[in-house]
Amino acid sequence: MADIIPFDDRDGLIWHNGAFIPWRDAKLHVLSHGLHYASCVFEGERAYDGKIFKSAAHTDRLFKSAEILDMALPYSKEELGKVKQELLDKQDLKNAYVRAFAWRGSEMMAVSAQQTKIHLAVAAWDWPSYFSLEQKKKGIKLDIAEWKRPSPESAPYQAKAAGLYMICTLSKHKAERQGYADALMPDYRGYISEATGANIFFVKDGALHTPKPDCFLNGITRQTVIELAEAKGIPVIERHMTFEELPDFEQCFLTGSAAEITPVSEIKGQKYQVGPLVLDLCEAYDQLVRS
Ligand code: PMP
Repeated sequence: MADIIPFDDRDGLIWHNGAFIPWRDAKLHVLSHGLHYASCVFEGERAYDGKIFKSAAHTDRLFKSAEILDMALPYSKEELGKVKQELLDKQDLKNAYVRAFAWRGSEMMAVSAQQTKIHLAVAAWDWPSYFSLEQKKKGIKLDIAEWKRPSPESAPYQAKAAGLYMICTLSKHKAERQGYADALMPDYRGYISEATGANIFFVKDGALHTPKPDCFLNGITRQTVIELAEAKGIPVIERHMTFEELPDFEQCFLTGSAAEITPVSEIKGQKYQVGPLVLDLCEAYDQLVRS
């Protein structure tokens, strides 16, 4: 625990409901609907050389997530776009993680939350890598989660919403306790879905295979990697994938704004090569985000 710098005790600024305030003053009351009932949506974005990669796409997704959760955000997309950049500029942050988020306030403390105020905030901090560089070069090891991604009738899967992460944290904790870096989650049908905070791709015979995002987040990085691969003439097959197929693949990697492209070297005993196609895509992604 010694090397942990708590997130409530840092220098810097956080933007909250229209004002840039000192980091340590950005507090909410313990009786907040967002905390008790998970009425909270958020974004995870990355800035490279002072500029957020696909900032507008992340802003669009935050607004969409809020709409899905019946929350009307009190600022415009244009305002949020400007705030994110200003927050980086004011703090001279170049390579950073950006977290924009919205939640329901304290006016009501029950399932019904019609009268709650919708809060909007943005924080940004230096965050070079989600998985360590060492982990990335060697490839990470994944557990297979026991929790299944719910069906589209059971959860608003297209929202990046706090409540959906309960089974992710549980799966990731169990994986980490067993020496894995993350966990691959089945969906409600038993198909492969994604990791706890990143999408997954496999390589076979020069083609990419990736699960169809019909019950989990279709990540912005996932969509970017599909475009990059197609531009390079690499076929991309989106389909339902089973765990029985895991031995058929040669390479594997995760994608996410935080994870970027992270090679996978093992899924619960099944080994993968950190191979040329994955490394080539890593390089192309690195170039694109800085272009
Ligand atoms: N799935 C989940 C559950 C995530 O939390 C994330 C990270 N936002 C992703 C996928 C990847 O999404 P993106 O590429 O848009 O960051």
